[in-house]
Amino acid sequence: MAKGKLTVVGFGPGSLDNMTIRAERAIREADEVVGYTAYIDMIKDYFDKDMHFISTGMRKEVDRCKMAVEEAMKGKNVAIVSSGDSGIYGMAGIVYEVADEMNADIDIDVVPGMTAASTAASVLGAPLMHDLAIISLSDLMTPLDQIMKRVDCAGVGDFVIALYNPKSVKRSEYLGQAADIIMKYRSPETPVGIVKDAGRPGEKKQIVTLGTLKDAEVDMFSIVIIGNSKTYVKNGRMITPRGYKEKGRMDGVI
Ligand code: SAH
Repeated sequence: MAKGKLTVVGFGPGSLDNMTIRAERAIREADEVVGYTAYIDMIKDYFDKDMHFISTGMRKEVDRCKMAVEEAMKGKNVAIVSSGDSGIYGMAGIVYEVADEMNADIDIDVVPGMTAASTAASVLGAPLMHDLAIISLSDLMTPLDQIMKRVDCAGVGDFVIALYNPKSVKRSEYLGQAADIIMKYRSPETPVGIVKDAGRPGEKKQIVTLGTLKDAEVDMFSIVIIGNSKTYVKNGRMITPRGYKEKGRMDGVI
């Protein structure tokens, strides 16, 4: 029997033109494509009708991985899909862990994709041009005090901060708490970009300030990008200068 193959595919925000050629090929060539229902629905129309898609519910990550590993162990070529980059709050890590636990003798490959922060940045202007911290405000896997400690550290370091999983119905207060922490170090006037459904139909952007962030319209389909102390807004675009020095400002820009 041929050795099975499992490819963890980050398919980008959800449109074919934001998918890498490698991601598209990995999905097209797979015998089975496994993923969370909402993600499968996002991409399946781009592919042939007779392809095999297996949808599973939310919070079933481990079951989904087990199923994908089992299919690959039968000698199949399996793709497991996640939105954005499969290695940023995606499926890549869990796939390696589960395959290891199952002692699966299969080939595993990770295909990276365009993460929400990059997609949203392009919609907002150029807010990520300097050092960046990516933090998830979801406390499903991480204790809240650790999340807020990281927010504090990113504030101290004057990092541009991209907040994933910024708000849900159950976690409506965390975004305001994070904003308060960052305001210990940054002005309330600091620009903040919010993009909902970046790179998807119905994409929506807002530019607010750190001081008003807690009252802004934000949900789980949104990403929040908080500027550093040098970020500014001009003609509706949020821009973080690449250089901090007045003289020789463009040095080092490729
Ligand atoms: N692996 C994904 C992230 C999954 S975590 C990636 O690399 O993009 C889920 C969170 O990502 C969401 O709550 C939201 O904050 C963010 N997100 C993912 N796709 C998005 C999109 N198209 N627009 C805005 N935010 C998005």
